[in-house]
Amino acid sequence: MKLSPITVVSKTPRTNCGECGYPTCISFATALTRRKVYYTKCPYFKADEKFIKLIDQLFVSEEKEKKPGISAVTLIEKRLKYKNFKEIAEPLGCKYYEENGKEILELNYLKYTARVLKYRDVIEVESNKKDFDVWDKILILNYLHFAGKSGLSGEWIAMEEMPNSISKVKALKRDCEEPLKEYFAGKKELLKERVKNLSGKILKEGCQSDLCFVINVLPMVPIRVNFWDEMPEEGFDANVKFLFDKNALDYLDLEALVFASEKVVSELIEE
Ligand code: SF4
Repeated sequence: MKLSPITVVSKTPRTNCGECGYPTCISFATALTRRKVYYTKCPYFKADEKFIKLIDQLFVSEEKEKKPGISAVTLIEKRLKYKNFKEIAEPLGCKYYEENGKEILELNYLKYTARVLKYRDVIEVESNKKDFDVWDKILILNYLHFAGKSGLSGEWIAMEEMPNSISKVKALKRDCEEPLKEYFAGKKELLKERVKNLSGKILKEGCQSDLCFVINVLPMVPIRVNFWDEMPEEGFDANVKFLFDKNALDYLDLEALVFASEKVVSELIEE
């Protein structure tokens, strides 16, 4: 069994009592899978030994995982040294300028701003995002490394329509669509508010669900979310579907698209 917000939340009573410091059981479960909180913070958490072991492994593996993250950054940084910042700026929706002998690419990242600085052999990334970490950095550096040029098609597709995407479709469902659905079922207005706070755009035209919105994770990586609210009296559960621009793979690979989607979910849930 893999730990996911859904498997973790099933071990709580789902009463949303708030004693753990999180407003709902699903936000607690999401935080736990991101190693931000340990299960003992929920006094009502009930799981067998096997499940607790899985949680422990997750926390133990944190240190081990830090190193691949850091070496991935080093690798992309090395490749980026040879990229012409001036040339890639416009197609990627970045602003290019020079400051104190440094070349700078400035770009929007979710509702934040990020700057990638290059001077001599050094690449630095900075952002006004509060918890900006190594994984945010990898996402931004990957985007610059891909240096897509195709532009946005304006056509939305599901991940299922992208080549070799079976395992990533599962990850997208498990780590993004399910947690968003669980958290916002019956709370469409709250979701709307959170989308606006994240500088997202609510779509009115062509929306066949109860709420459609677009969040620009990176300038050329918009993610569209279709949300159907639950209708308990009619026996319908809520549903969520993530969609991507048809040219999305020109800007990020499948894994990074899932990761970008996870960022959208955590910003909406944790705000
Ligand atoms: S303390 Fe447990 S039951 Fe209460 S909100 Fe947190 S996770 Fe849910």
